[in-house]
Amino acid sequence: MNRYETLKRHMYLFILPVITIASVIGLIFSSRSNPFNIWMLSVFVVVFSLSFLLLFFPNTLKIVEYLNLSVVTILHIIKFHSIITLDMIVKGYSHTGSSTYWTPLILVFIFIALPRKIGIYYALVLWSIMVYIGFDYWSSISDKGTERLLQYYLSILVYIILIYFVRRVITYYAEKEMIEKLAYFDPLTGVANRRKVYLWLDESIQKKKDFYVVLFDIDHFKAVNDTYGHPTGDEVLKKITEITASQLGEDDIIGRWGGEEFIIVTRREKGAHSLVEQIRKKIANFEFDDIPNITASFGIAKYQNQSTELLLEQADNALYQAKSNGRNRVETYQNIKY
Ligand code: GH3
Ligand code: MG
Ligand code: MG
Repeated sequence: MNRYETLKRHMYLFILPVITIASVIGLIFSSRSNPFNIWMLSVFVVVFSLSFLLLFFPNTLKIVEYLNLSVVTILHIIKFHSIITLDMIVKGYSHTGSSTYWTPLILVFIFIALPRKIGIYYALVLWSIMVYIGFDYWSSISDKGTERLLQYYLSILVYIILIYFVRRVITYYAEKEMIEKLAYFDPLTGVANRRKVYLWLDESIQKKKDFYVVLFDIDHFKAVNDTYGHPTGDEVLKKITEITASQLGEDDIIGRWGGEEFIIVTRREKGAHSLVEQIRKKIANFEFDDIPNITASFGIAKYQNQSTELLLEQADNALYQAKSNGRNRVETYQNIKY
């Protein structure tokens, strides 16, 4: 089940009991002289509670949605017809009654259950049917009643248009978020990619606070791929990202620089060394299920008003030094003796 469906399922599991209770309350208080109300509310109680139970079985979401949509739509039309012909004409009421409070909920439900375009057609057809019923009896309804009915029609039309646009806006934000995710995050490890890291670096420079760049590279990673296969290599990359991320705090960020090389940007006042040592140890001590322990080498450079390119080059030099000094170690740019 995808995330959207899971979300809808959770929402229905919450809403269905509430509207079942609302229907039961309606049943208790509805007048015995209105058999249609009793019949309609009983159908609701049965359908809503049945739907609630159905949701606990796999692949029932669509069935529940279509079942409820058809029952609610049909009963809404019949009820609306009875409001006009019975309540407003025979009994002379000048209002549409409490059951119409629920019309916006039906509209929201239409747009949740159906695709957006079909949703708007469906809602407009439902609205047109209600308008048709009203206008058919227009001359028999009191002036006050027609005024209220007109307000009802207009408000429902506004709700339809509003919900349609709200759905479009939500889709727009969801798409924007998705595009940003694709553009700025590494799909394998889920951390920032190089493009995003450059934005962070620019941001850190603008903050005019000390910060450090740490480049690290997994030792002999090619051997992992060659011996255990590429998929195992991918799992190792994910695990190493996870271990590293678990050691980071609010002032630190991690990104995948490329391949098996990662970058950390840290604004810790105490400097980066103790944090990096801690990460190095965590990685080296982590016991994988099916492969021997993995180590990584780290290079640190401090930002001192140099260009981003130079800062990265310095961290890379420090990393190179860590590799040539025997790997599984941390080197800081200033400490390098050439
Ligand atoms: P060193 O200790 O000098 O860093 O040795 P190394 O073997 O780690 O270095 P090398 O650069 O020779 O190998 C890096 C390997 O990383 C080669 C490449 O196949 C692997 N690699 C890069 N990206 C990925 C990836 O996304 N998934 C997997 N499984 N492997 C990757
Ligand atoms: Mg490498
Ligand atoms: Mg490597």
